[in-house]
Amino acid sequence: MVLISKELIKQIEAHGEKTYPYECGGMLIGTYAADGKKSIVELLPMENAMAESEQHNRVLILPKDVLRAERYAREKRLDVVGYYHSHPDDRAVPSQFDLDHALPVWTYIIVSVLDGKAADVKAWEMENDRSKFNEEKMKLTT
Ligand SMILES: [Zn+2]
Repeated sequence: MVLISKELIKQIEAHGEKTYPYECGGMLIGTYAADGKKSIVELLPMENAMAESEQHNRVLILPKDVLRAERYAREKRLDVVGYYHSHPDDRAVPSQFDLDHALPVWTYIIVSVLDGKAADVKAWEMENDRSKFNEEKMKLTT
């Protein structure tokens, strides 16, 4: 389960609408609790590193972006707990590309943006054997 505020969900939706018809992406900064729950405290939007021609269906996270996010989180005594991105004109369901590039334990939030408007937001967590994503329950806080 992942705890996230309605305000952060709104920010993810707004980022996806702003970059439409291209994908947006960013890091989820927060905390891991001992019981396995994650809390997202803030977002760290990322530049899309892919060539523009491929941006509509691919987002690449560069290792330097992950390092930067980890440094940023550590300064605030927080962790990188996941990654969010948009699916322009597609469902909020991870693609094979997403699975191939996923890290274990991280939360993956996907916003579906249809005709430029955010339509759906879902959270996912990869199975430990990398075989698939399972939908992760999002608990909305105020
Ligand atoms: Zn995706």
